[in-house]
Order: sequence, then C-alpha cells, then structure tokens
Amino acid sequence: MNLDLLIDWHINAPRQGPGGDGQTRLALSLTGIADQHGLQVADLGCGTGASTLTLAAALSDADIVAVDFLEPFIASLEQAVRERSLRSRVRPMVTSMETLPFEAESLDLIWSEGAIYNLGFEDGIRAWRPMLKPGGRLVVSEITWLTDTRPAPLEEHWMAEYPQIATAGEKVTQLENNGYSLLGYFPLPRECWLDNYYGDIEARAASFLARHGETEEVVALVEAERSECALYREYSDYFSYGVYVARRC
Ligand code: SAH
Repeated sequence: MNLDLLIDWHINAPRQGPGGDGQTRLALSLTGIADQHGLQVADLGCGTGASTLTLAAALSDADIVAVDFLEPFIASLEQAVRERSLRSRVRPMVTSMETLPFEAESLDLIWSEGAIYNLGFEDGIRAWRPMLKPGGRLVVSEITWLTDTRPAPLEEHWMAEYPQIATAGEKVTQLENNGYSLLGYFPLPRECWLDNYYGDIEARAASFLARHGETEEVVALVEAERSECALYREYSDYFSYGVYVARRC
C-alpha cells in the first residue's frame, strides 16, 4: 500500500481513529488526576492530534509531548498548536513508539487512542509502564469484542487483521497481570466511528479520487476504506474500541 496515499486519505479525515472529544474528556475525568497541576503527559500515536488538543484544553498547565512517526501528521498538529498559541506546553514530535525518549518514571499520564495495536496491546502496556511515575495513569483505547460470541465472518475478519482482539475482561486481566489496576472502562459509541472517524466517507472518496485520479491503487484504497466502514455498520453490536483507564501500581 502506498504510504503517501494512505497519509493523504487519513490527514483529510476528522481524526485518524475512532474517538471523540467527549470520550477523551470522560476518560480524563476517570483518571482522577485532571485537577492536578503541572502534569507531564505523553500522547502516543497522536496522528494529527485530536486527543492532544482536547487534553491541552482540559489541562491548562500540563506539559504534553505528542508523538507520531508520520511527519505530515505531526506537521499538521504543529500548525494547530501554533494557531492556538499552545507552543509553550504542547510539543509535537516525530518519533516511533518503539524508541520513545522519555526517562524512567517521568510521566504522570500516558495517553494513546487507537494506536497501541501497532505494538500489540500487551507489549505496549509492558513497554510503557516504566516511563510512568508510580501511581501514574494510562489511558488507552483498543479494539474490543462487546459480546462473548459473534458472527463467523466477523470473527474471521478480525482473526486475520488483529488476532489480539479480545473482550474487555481479557484486556483488563492483561492490564492487571502487567502492573496496572483498572480505574475505568467504556466502549466507544457508534458516533465515534461513523461521525467522527469515517465522517462523510463518500464525499471524502469523491475528493480523494479527484485529487489522485482513478488508478488501480487509488480505487483499491477507497474500496478498502468503504468496506471497513460497511463492516463496522453491519457489526457495530459486536465490536468497538474499548477505552481503558488504569493506574500504574
Ligand atoms: N490517536 C490518533 C491517531 C490514531 S491512528 C487518533 O485517535 O486520531 C494510529 C496512529 O499511530 C497513526 O497516526 C500512525 O501514524 C501512528 N503510528 C503507527 N505506528 C506507530 C509507531 N510505531 N510509532 C509512532 N506512531 C505510530
């Protein structure tokens, strides 16, 4: 898959993964530390920074480092940070989640929406834990089964795409087995996918096709996005992103 095309598709979306400002704020309130001053925060896999900007608005004196390995997303966030006069407390950074620059026990809060799957949930929570201060908080969203059983075609899809998909109970056990205790959990509602993430997918598809021409590659990308959206519409009772709010023990 052509990375420039993928970036162009996603940079023109409202956000790069399912989520919402209200859900970011709800998760922040569940951390129980939103009223503390001078928090050191990292937003990992921030994309163009939808969650970063919500956190910056809600935490008026936090120091937020926002990390993504795709330079165009970080450039877009840098512009938003300048426009909102946030440069003194929000630092966008082009870095891989696999080579994070944070010192041991330096962060009050690690935030990551729709991105930890790139490391794998359990590998990610293990790798990030040492960077949190003892008692520091983790907020992470992860693809989650909402039911104990589900239709076979859906099961097959996710086993091929991301076999680590599991129920919230299994994810919570993984958190507990890796030195975290759960403070809160909720699944993202449908509007976080259909309004905030896919948006008006047909309008986006039309302008994307107009920008790039209808080559085989361009059409294939649009088709893949359409079918992902259709899969969600059909099976939204069975899976979503779960938002996990945890404390480093
Ligand atoms: N948190 C954003 C973006 C989610 S999409 C939102 O909710 O809108 C996942 C993001 O993870 C993408 O921006 C992608 O560039 C980033 N990503 C994937 N692998 C990464 C890695 N190894 N290091 C840093 N960022 C990564």
